[in-house]
Amino acid sequence: MTATRVLVLNSGSSSVKYQLLDMRDGARLAQGLVERIGEETSRLKHTPLTGGGGESREQNRPIADHEEALKAVAGELAHDGLGLDSPELAAIGHRVVHGGKFFTQPTVIDDAVLKEVERLIPVAPLHNPANLTGIRTAMALRPDLPQVAVFDTAFHTTMPESASRYAIDVKTADEHRIRRYGFHGTSHAYVSRRTAELLGKEPEEVNVIVLHLGNGASASAVRGGVCVETSMGLTPLEGLVMGTRSGDVDPAVIFHLMRVGNMSADEIDVLLNKKSGLIGLCGDNDMREIRRRIDEGDQEARLAFDIYIHRLKKYIGAYYAVLGRVDAVAFTAGVGENAAPVREAAVSGLEELGLTVDGELNSVRSDEARIISPEYARVAVAVVPTDEELEIARQTYALVGDSDRRHA
Ligand code: AMP
Repeated sequence: MTATRVLVLNSGSSSVKYQLLDMRDGARLAQGLVERIGEETSRLKHTPLTGGGGESREQNRPIADHEEALKAVAGELAHDGLGLDSPELAAIGHRVVHGGKFFTQPTVIDDAVLKEVERLIPVAPLHNPANLTGIRTAMALRPDLPQVAVFDTAFHTTMPESASRYAIDVKTADEHRIRRYGFHGTSHAYVSRRTAELLGKEPEEVNVIVLHLGNGASASAVRGGVCVETSMGLTPLEGLVMGTRSGDVDPAVIFHLMRVGNMSADEIDVLLNKKSGLIGLCGDNDMREIRRRIDEGDQEARLAFDIYIHRLKKYIGAYYAVLGRVDAVAFTAGVGENAAPVREAAVSGLEELGLTVDGELNSVRSDEARIISPEYARVAVAVVPTDEELEIARQTYALVGDSDRRHA
């Protein structure tokens, strides 16, 4: 039997998101989420998607750890005839947030890979430990199956040194592995390639600015399919204004808060990562709510929106300069895909750069990738729904292929 299925696992500290895909056509067979692992109120929500899809099923019971969570997921999949012991399962693809400088490609996981991901924990203390737990649990469950790590940072490892180094003392930076790694790479890779497709071109032929605007947000400049700059840095805190993260601030704000505000490093970490960005500015991090408040005349929400857009525009301009020629600007993720006012405001006033949106095309709601600039515009503005799971599955499958090929 040909193994064509890939299970994609995205393991967080208290959650596991999963999708099972058939790589013959990229069809989704099932998807689900286990949340609040380790709490009394854990929940598994599983949705079968074969044959037009079925009713979602829920388990509401304490799930102690990732092992119990994965076993429960395996049980749900088996219930749909999609069990993890199926010979049709080719591999498990794991999202791994931080791959450092050296993981430039998806990588089949072995002990050496596990060690290196572990060594990166100091630069990704929130994410890598959870990713590792997910990997170890899945490996224990199916030790014979290829398991592949797909790194959020990998797409950005092509950035030149001029973009990936901070201008700080080189010895100190190297000692502590301080450099700009970038994140959301799987999304930037998928969206930049899909944007080229939308333009009827090969990725090598086009320069694209990708704006991944979700609760976390990042921009990237992609020249001929190769990432040359991105807005997140050592951690996902740098760059754009996000739902709860500040993005760029003068680093001296931190010493100031320590010296004058008597705050600890941990308190400032929480302030900048969890209590800043849109939520810090106006108390809401959901763009829908912010737009609703603006429509009611709320000035605080208006200012939060303006700060968000101002930063976004600065990055568009900067990446235009980095690329020299821009063929497309692509909006993706929750805000980018859904918030027409954000897209309109982000390019407004940039007509001299060839950037503009058609009001009518911009207001259409759709799940399809589409161009929203008028035909005459020099730069295409696109909305491209991201699909990180499909990209992880594709990269995983491209690496391990089906079992026939592996044993050939
Ligand atoms: P993500 O992190 O990609 O899942 O994006 C989540 C964010 O997308 C939410 O916090 C909202 O701010 C935003 N979002 C989702 N749907 C809409 C919508 N219809 N209009 C505006 N913003 C939206």
